[in-house]
Amino acid sequence: MTLNQDNIVAVATATGYAGIGVVRISGHNLLEIVTQISHKNNLKPRLASYTDFYNIDNEVIDSGLIIYFSAPYSFTGEDVIELQGHGSPIVLQMILKRCLELGCRIAQPGEFSRRAYLNGKIDLVQAESIVDLIHAESEMAARGALKSLKGTFSKHIDTINQQLINLRMFVEATLDFPEEDIEFIVEAKIQDKLRLLQTSIGGLLANTKQGVLLNNGANIVIVGRPNVGKSSLLNALANEEVAIVTAVAGTTRDIVKEKIIINGVVFNLIDTAGIRDTEDIVEKIGIERALHAVQNAELCLVLIDDSIGITPEDELILAKIPTELPRLFVHNKIDITNSNPRIDSNYGVSNIYISAKQQLGLGLLRDEILKLVGFDNSCNNVFIARTRHLEAMKQAVSHIDNAFANWHQLELIAEELRYAHNNLTDITGEFTSDDLLGEIFSKFCIGK
Ligand code: GDP
Repeated sequence: MTLNQDNIVAVATATGYAGIGVVRISGHNLLEIVTQISHKNNLKPRLASYTDFYNIDNEVIDSGLIIYFSAPYSFTGEDVIELQGHGSPIVLQMILKRCLELGCRIAQPGEFSRRAYLNGKIDLVQAESIVDLIHAESEMAARGALKSLKGTFSKHIDTINQQLINLRMFVEATLDFPEEDIEFIVEAKIQDKLRLLQTSIGGLLANTKQGVLLNNGANIVIVGRPNVGKSSLLNALANEEVAIVTAVAGTTRDIVKEKIIINGVVFNLIDTAGIRDTEDIVEKIGIERALHAVQNAELCLVLIDDSIGITPEDELILAKIPTELPRLFVHNKIDITNSNPRIDSNYGVSNIYISAKQQLGLGLLRDEILKLVGFDNSCNNVFIARTRHLEAMKQAVSHIDNAFANWHQLELIAEELRYAHNNLTDITGEFTSDDLLGEIFSKFCIGK
């Protein structure tokens, strides 16, 4: 990919009214722009200076701080200027306009980060983690994003890549200079090295799964007959009122979404319309939506009124849930049946006993939810990751598995290892195609 040489500018802070707002410029030979806009010509790099900002007629349009970063010691690796003015959309637009008059053009979404990546300041995983940090929905997600930004995830990938490169060199050297009599020793060695590689990448894959979950969250659908306490449970887990709780059956006609955070993982809880056979057109639409939500969920909570037990109506609802969707049977209203909060797991099916109204057993429920979506509760060292990374890593794993399965065929091993290596370099972006880069950076905001 060729590096665009234009000077680019954007308001880097959120639009709206605020104490301060930052305009950022990246490009080449920006000192001339500094002089024009601030009338200063002796700025020291990386030191903030208080200044007035001037328009084309040398009138003061704002005052604030200016910081000059000289290439390559900046975020993008180019010259960068930060103009910190007052956070008024009008003032920031005036500063922006002045920068455009001075030859800058408006930056495209993610163009600053893209330049940082192309100039080798950060890799692709780090660039993506900037966006993930900005959009983090929990403290743990923010911490995980920062870890990836600081290079934790990339370092793990580099370590495995190094292992892969060494093994590839070994296999290819053996292919080039076969020595018949020591072949079995070589094969045993390759097998050992492949096994080690499988272990390392398997560990990283597990951590990456946690990272993706932390980043994307998970969808939970709550299904159950009208009046079993779905809305009450949603409210209890969310700790605030989101759905109207009513004793009249069939009044929750639409899907209600609420976010709850359990151990840093964001869950979208979808309270479905009471799924039941009905002639009411409005209710039917709600039921269709509910069934659609079920298709896209990671977990289904099947709510049962413990004072009534499982009814034929519950059985009908259960028949509509895809068999592959993990489910948890939540027996609600144990305050009426006078039972204790508890969890029974039999034959891979979990039954949990709670009271949404009396807030009994909610801790147990939260832990079980985390477990069922695959989040390791003891893991507090999670770096953030994306589905893209996970998919690439799964492919790498399958190529390494293929190599292992064919450990006596050196040509095949060499080929599979080459594929696995490509998968991993795709993650950090060593040889990533322009198309993929375009797709990734276009999802950034302007100014990032
Ligand atoms: P939904 O139709 O499944 O969403 O059920 P709601 O959440 O609207 O609850 C129906 C009725 O059951 C309401 O009167 C709730 O107060 C009541 N309810 C919900 N959870 C409990 C519980 O744990 N114990 C008792 N005693 N009543 C509950």
